[in-house]
Amino acid sequence: MLSIDLSGKRAFVAGVADDGGFGFAIAKALATAGASVCVGTWPPALGIFEALLRRGKLDASLAMPDGSKFEFEKIYPLDAEYDSLEDAPPEVREQKRYRDRGDFTIEGVARQLREDFGDSCLDIVVHSLANGPEVTRPLMQTSRGGYLAAHGASAYSFVSLAQRLEPLMRPRGALLALSYLASQGVVADYGGGMASAKAALETDARMLAFEMGRQAGHRVNVISAGPYASRAASAIGFIHKMIKYYEMNAPLADALQAEEVGNAAAFLCSPLASGITGTVLYVDKGFHAMAAPADVAHVVDRLSGD
Ligand code: NAD
Repeated sequence: MLSIDLSGKRAFVAGVADDGGFGFAIAKALATAGASVCVGTWPPALGIFEALLRRGKLDASLAMPDGSKFEFEKIYPLDAEYDSLEDAPPEVREQKRYRDRGDFTIEGVARQLREDFGDSCLDIVVHSLANGPEVTRPLMQTSRGGYLAAHGASAYSFVSLAQRLEPLMRPRGALLALSYLASQGVVADYGGGMASAKAALETDARMLAFEMGRQAGHRVNVISAGPYASRAASAIGFIHKMIKYYEMNAPLADALQAEEVGNAAAFLCSPLASGITGTVLYVDKGFHAMAAPADVAHVVDRLSGD
């Protein structure tokens, strides 16, 4: 039988702070395939995440298909905006959610992983995070600061993770990032520079695929996911309308489940995908294949008031 087998592999998934997003679903799918999974959690969300875990509020989601409970091997504080502590301004380092967390930067996570598991300890790195402080603003009203912040947190953070975690990776590892169709065409309301941050992320994944493939046989891929009402997406505001729109127009009419992204991620990170790198895999119920709404006449009538 052909199955996804990640036993003996260790994954680091950046961007898990609850059980409601793609990062959690990917972490769980990797664990279901046999991997040990460490996660990186944004310090402002870490306290709540730890409390939810402690109080058993996530137990239903942590239930594995075999009846056991999914346990994260380790949860690291991670603010992916910062490569090293010197980059974090004092007002961030001194905030109550940061100050007792040690080194929460990408370099800090790399150091702690090495201390915890040794030099050659990692096979899979997943980047499932994004942040655009001005995402709700049209590009025409986006400041330079907001634009660059979106790119720093949502795109460069992947490059930085690759740079700093690569030295810990065993040969033929896999890296994965999460993108959105707004990188390829206009999604009105996905503002603040987030669309170009996703385009940068996809382009960087191709460059990294070449550089890391030649260097150590690592593979670098992207999943472009359809809309899903995670905490981050719900904060943007129009997610339920997007989900409805996809249900009405995508080739597959049912709403996307996070597990579908998790399963695709487990495949891409597994030896079964050994020939796949530098690719963007659409896990969006086929919506990317559409060039016009399914019911064009209906939309035209509505727009013209008929
Ligand atoms: P999510 O809320 O589960 O994940 C986003 C995570 O990013 C959160 O855990 C948040 O704490 C973390 N984060 C924010 N800023 C951070 C920082 N500076 N450092 C570290 N972590 C930080 O939401 P999600 O929708 O599952 O998002 C995961 C990825 O999927 C993102 O890249 C997102 O753009 C992408 N995506 C989401 C959708 C969607 O509709 N939900 C669609 C396509 C792509």
